[in-house]
Amino acid sequence: MTLVSMKEMLQEAKQKGYAVGQYNINNLEFIPAFLRVAESEQSPMIIAASDRMVDFLGGFKNTARMVETLYEELNITVPVALHLDHGQTVDRCKQAIDAGFSSVMIDGSHHPIDENIAMTKEVVAYAKPHGVSVEAEVGTVGGQEDGLVGGVQYADVHECFRLVKEAEIDALAAALGSVHGPYQGEPKLGFEQMEAISQETQVPLVLHGGTGIPIHQIERAISLGHAKINVNTENIQAWTKAVRKKLSEDEKVYEPRLILLPAIEAVGNSVKEKIREFGTNNRV
Ligand code: 13P
Repeated sequence: MTLVSMKEMLQEAKQKGYAVGQYNINNLEFIPAFLRVAESEQSPMIIAASDRMVDFLGGFKNTARMVETLYEELNITVPVALHLDHGQTVDRCKQAIDAGFSSVMIDGSHHPIDENIAMTKEVVAYAKPHGVSVEAEVGTVGGQEDGLVGGVQYADVHECFRLVKEAEIDALAAALGSVHGPYQGEPKLGFEQMEAISQETQVPLVLHGGTGIPIHQIERAISLGHAKINVNTENIQAWTKAVRKKLSEDEKVYEPRLILLPAIEAVGNSVKEKIREFGTNNRV
């Protein structure tokens, strides 16, 4: 057994007051960058493929095999979950589980709450016998979500309670003002609602849009029940900056390996910073 569910990781993180980072795969090279830093920092980690990226990554099976194989080849020993980020339909979540993902998110947040709960229940029923953890969402994260650009819609406490109790999920993404991609100004997270949702549901909370949230807000979110924080934009910005620098400094370079090596290092450094910020280092 290589990949593990995120259920135990998140329960332990919530209990001990830190958060496990979710880092999204954008191409093959991101995977060893993530795994190496997880091992060197002795940190549990959630590696994710966003539903809209799965085809680009070669499909569910290819994504799962790449992560499993690299986990073995690199002699990784820390707990790593492979998670489907923003699974768009019940069927997509089932395909991910069949391919070997150890965790899935079913994002029914764009549907009315009864439909969201029904979809989530179906995914949980399929996931549980496979030992796969399930995350679901209430409210709307701003910016790009599932390829849709939308405004922020704060999660409703009662809807969160219903989703957690009726569908028996392992983690809840309660959208409370966070945004996918860069923020315009200081993020305005709904800390009061966060406290109420955490008290009511008792489930580990997930903070989407982790890029650009100042440390004091991250710490407050963790103290109010967040056990998982998703980061992508910051890593891909580091990747692109390194590629741009390499290409502008060395006009003769044409070998992809030489162009990508500094980018891989930049992603590793970006993730290392997050691991330390979220307090996940030396937790294994
Ligand atoms: P950022 O790209 O803003 O870091 O958000 C990532 C995310 O929430 C993935 O689900």
